[in-house]
Amino acid sequence: MPSGNIIRGARVGSAPVRPDERHQPAPRQDVTYWCRNDHRINIRIAADVAPPPLWDCPRCGLPAGQDEQNPPGRVRAEPYKSHLAYVKERRTAEEGEALLNEALAALRRRRGE
Ligand SMILES: [Zn+2]
Repeated sequence: MPSGNIIRGARVGSAPVRPDERHQPAPRQDVTYWCRNDHRINIRIAADVAPPPLWDCPRCGLPAGQDEQNPPGRVRAEPYKSHLAYVKERRTAEEGEALLNEALAALRRRRGE
């Protein structure tokens, strides 16, 4: 059976060994990412490839970025502001006074004062 000998020794995944690649791995770079849960993720990729801007954190699944101080998705630390505080941002005290007087005047008119 000559045909049986032709495929002997061949198996899935086997490839001819190229000696120059076998002992000299391609240059790599280590890239570190941080997610907003302060998980640190180190990956190693080929040196000639630009690292992706985001990497999914393997521990919590959140996107991780390369800036440790500013990981993606971190809620900006903005102090709680009341509704009044936002109103005060939009209007000066004088404007507020004028609006209040206007509203009071309208109220008094409706009451017949
Ligand atoms: Zn994480």
